Amino acid sequence: MIRGRFAPSPTGELHAGSLVAALASWLDARALQGEWWVRMEDVDGPRCIVSAAASILHQLSLCGLHSDGEVMFQSNGNTLYEQALHQLIAKDLAYPCACTRKEIEEQQATLGLSLERHKSAVYPGTCRNGLHGKAARAWRFNVLKWSQLRGSSEVQWTDRRLGPQIQNVQEEVGDFVLKRADGLWAYQLAVVVDDAAQGITHVVRGEDLTDNTSRQYLLQEALDFEHPHYMHTPLVLGANGEKLSKQNDAQALDLSSPKAVCLAMQAAASTLGLSTLAKPDNDLFDLDVALSTWTQEWAQRYVLASP
Ligand SMILES: [Zn+2]
Repeated sequence: MIRGRFAPSPTGELHAGSLVAALASWLDARALQGEWWVRMEDVDGPRCIVSAAASILHQLSLCGLHSDGEVMFQSNGNTLYEQALHQLIAKDLAYPCACTRKEIEEQQATLGLSLERHKSAVYPGTCRNGLHGKAARAWRFNVLKWSQLRGSSEVQWTDRRLGPQIQNVQEEVGDFVLKRADGLWAYQLAVVVDDAAQGITHVVRGEDLTDNTSRQYLLQEALDFEHPHYMHTPLVLGANGEKLSKQNDAQALDLSSPKAVCLAMQAAASTLGLSTLAKPDNDLFDLDVALSTWTQEWAQRYVLASP
């Protein structure tokens, strides 16, 4: 069974950027004659708004996008995440870390690691060989050890739109966090466990997540999960040239009328390079017809054209 998913964080309503991700993943699932599931990535607990999840589902339904499976909430996945962490601990691939953010920065400075090169610089592996009496704060994945076991620290995978990708996770990221100091599950672990638990075979999401994929590949290997196929889609940029996001106050979508829905869907289709179906002096179209036209275009570009 082919299964795609759309996994928004319910921290607010959908905006133009999240509609692109929703539409792209829906079209891909339809083009592959598979299912499309919605999952609420509310693992961030406090930042998530209970009513936002309901609003997002309502917005999606106005756009003709309905989840084929029961909507899953990441906050209900604790047991699965705990099991995955214990599996990694049992394989000696996860270890507790006592470092504060400030200590990590000091360690990096001592080692001469540039803080500018990466937004969150490489963790230097300070606690890899024990806490030396300090209290555990977070749990980290032992990238160094897993790289040795698998014979390489380079992860290679192919993006269905962007082509071959390669990342040296050990050098560029280091031992990344699985469970945070505040007790919340890290995105990387949660998303890998959820995708596996839900049988997701095709992940379609925004390009800003492309460089997370190598880390997720390593976790999938270490946990004996299958790798889904990945495709990363273009982002909608705000006036400041930055990715449109809730953090930079993206406006909620206007879906107040059929015409508004058409305009929002046309904009999303246009970002994805699909035909906008716009005719002069007629910007209202049949949503079902549009979705089926876009599905055919998508199939020709990404499904039939694939080797
Ligand atoms: Zn540490």
